[in-house]
Amino acid sequence: MDTNLKKTSRNKHRVSLGTVIWATFLAFNVIIIGTVLIFQVVLLDKFYKSSTKNDLAETAATIANVYTTNQQNREYIPYLDALHLSDDLACEVYISTIEYEKKYDNLTATNTNPYIFNAPTYFDSLGNQNSMVYYEDNYIIFVSKEFSNNLSCYIIITTPIENVGYTVNILKRQIIWIAIASILLSFILARFLSLRISEPIKNLSNSVIDLSKGKFNIEFPKSNYYETNQLSESLTYASHELGKAEQLQRDVLANVTHDFKTPLTLIKSYAEMIRDISGDDKEKRDAHLQTIIEETDRMNKLINDVLALSKAQADVESKNIEFSLSGLCNDSVVRFDELASTKKIHFTYSIQDHVHIIGNKEQIAEVLYNYISNAFNYTRTSIHVTLEVLDKVAIFKVTDDGMGISQEEIPNIFKRYYRSSDSHIRSVNGTGLGLSIVKAILDRHSFTYDVSSEVGVGSTFMFTAPIANSKK
Ligand code: ADP
Repeated sequence: MDTNLKKTSRNKHRVSLGTVIWATFLAFNVIIIGTVLIFQVVLLDKFYKSSTKNDLAETAATIANVYTTNQQNREYIPYLDALHLSDDLACEVYISTIEYEKKYDNLTATNTNPYIFNAPTYFDSLGNQNSMVYYEDNYIIFVSKEFSNNLSCYIIITTPIENVGYTVNILKRQIIWIAIASILLSFILARFLSLRISEPIKNLSNSVIDLSKGKFNIEFPKSNYYETNQLSESLTYASHELGKAEQLQRDVLANVTHDFKTPLTLIKSYAEMIRDISGDDKEKRDAHLQTIIEETDRMNKLINDVLALSKAQADVESKNIEFSLSGLCNDSVVRFDELASTKKIHFTYSIQDHVHIIGNKEQIAEVLYNYISNAFNYTRTSIHVTLEVLDKVAIFKVTDDGMGISQEEIPNIFKRYYRSSDSHIRSVNGTGLGLSIVKAILDRHSFTYDVSSEVGVGSTFMFTAPIANSKK
């Protein structure tokens, strides 16, 4: 409850998805509108003037070209012929050759335009410069000295300045309305988007709360978005896995309880029998005591296996050392010699010397023990243990000629508490945990393992481990 409160108060300082989307839209709007404002309003006058100046310069060059070409042909071309080249600029043009510089014959045609009328003054003001631009009242006056086709001429072009200030005012008003509309629109869009995006997230988080309350195997709601759908699928998978883990835990507990109960019931019954019936009958009493001892051993083995399994699942890396697998194998097999002769089993081994590997020595000893003791539990007449090195890999194998395992059962035998249908006989001394301990240990070491078996012929259990580099 306390942590929930803390979480809620922390969440108060978090910004909602909707606000972030809206802020992003707003920032985007400000950038776009600001850019439009700068270019259309603030810089419009400058742009207009500079682009008109460039247009006038181009027009002047073209006119000069036409004019000088025709001058060369010694034909009289009135400047108005050249004027049609610049129709779109609505300008007036006056041309004068350098030779006729002071004559200005054509001036009469343009005497309504004071700038054209004053062309000589403008030509004089050029001095050494090739072109000049004047902004007088409402006119742009472009004056230039052109050189084309080896002839020079003066050109003056005038064009009225459009009323940019008026245009700017219209644009300003338009931009204000556009800004208001787009801010409103972005608010609506942000709201719509955040609802659409946050809805599936909210649904997911509600289901996660159910999961945290212990409701496993939940189907998380699907959504139309790839990312949230991925999340929902992962959470569904995780909840199923948690469900399985929970089920497994319950099964393990039920199995452990059951496995403890059976020997305990037997111990209690035999103890009562000794007290009530066989107390004075030495032969019977010894038989009953023997059962009590065997059942105690069985319980002991179960406790050891459960402990070994939980240890195997704990981190082993810190305990990894280089050790002689050959030495460990020799120590293990020797411990079974006695049992082999008691059970009259033909027990042989061929163990390559000086095989070193890196791992947790105690846990690998547990693997060897489980493989060999299983072979003793399930064999009929013989067991053969080998350790050899092939391609820098140590291979450990235990082969028996027991009842074998059917192909369908092989994938299950490494599972916790799995015991094949034939091994449920109480005479076989097992807990169903041995191979799951082996699996946990070998998985932790990243060592590979395998079983090959044929029903009625026998089985071979093996694992491989890379040999340590320092020794062979
Ligand atoms: P258990 O304590 O029952 O031996 P294990 O986990 O060691 O448990 O083995 C799981 C099951 O695998 C056994 O119940 C048995 O059915 C099968 N199994 C293991 N080793 C052998 C073997 N050498 N031959 C035949 N079956 C085997």
